[in-house]
Amino acid sequence: MAIGKTASCLILALAMSASAAEFAVRHEHLRKGCDGVMTADDTGVRFAGPKGHSWNWKYEDIQQLILEPGRIRILTYKDQKLRLGADKGYEFTGKLPVETLDALWKNRMDQRFVAALPQPATEGISIPVKHLRRISGSEGTLNFGADSIVYATSAAADSRTWRYSDIESISSSGPFQLSITTFERALSHYGDRKGFNFELKQPITEAIYNQLWLQIEEKNGRIQP
Ligand SMILES: [Zn+2]
Repeated sequence: MAIGKTASCLILALAMSASAAEFAVRHEHLRKGCDGVMTADDTGVRFAGPKGHSWNWKYEDIQQLILEPGRIRILTYKDQKLRLGADKGYEFTGKLPVETLDALWKNRMDQRFVAALPQPATEGISIPVKHLRRISGSEGTLNFGADSIVYATSAAADSRTWRYSDIESISSSGPFQLSITTFERALSHYGDRKGFNFELKQPITEAIYNQLWLQIEEKNGRIQP
């Protein structure tokens, strides 16, 4: 009996550790960087590095957290005095436990979490697209699944996995164009919501567009299903 009890305690401990992660990262400075340990759990994110480079952020102190395959960007609400009040950001790189972090932050954080990750599509409608950007665009696939919309591209940091609650609205000016307005903060435009403009390589039918629009409205509670 005693053995059984120990085993169940072990299982409980393992289950609990699934919602926390501790891993080595590099804090990127303008030149070079410093090495430290990051911890993420239900309460927040901590970084322990050398010489005053240690921070403890509760989730409500984080204005935006972007998770890329090898990079974490944290934007706080603190003013950066040298840059005319621009909010202070931190960048960490390393071999990250991406799946654990994505699962933790997707559940723990609201729209302030941005998953810059291409999740493999298993269902739903997929359309090959080009993401139009000011300088150079990226090409990939837009997938509309039951719980998320995924833009998967090989271009670094341009992939996104949006929960429906991350999407403010969609619009289209024709069968070969789709705009997705998200709650992501566009860093170059002060506080603006970030729009993603896609050129579609296959036309989107009116029926599919209407279905998507309806899904976004329903998931955001603006209309009753
Ligand atoms: Zn540092």
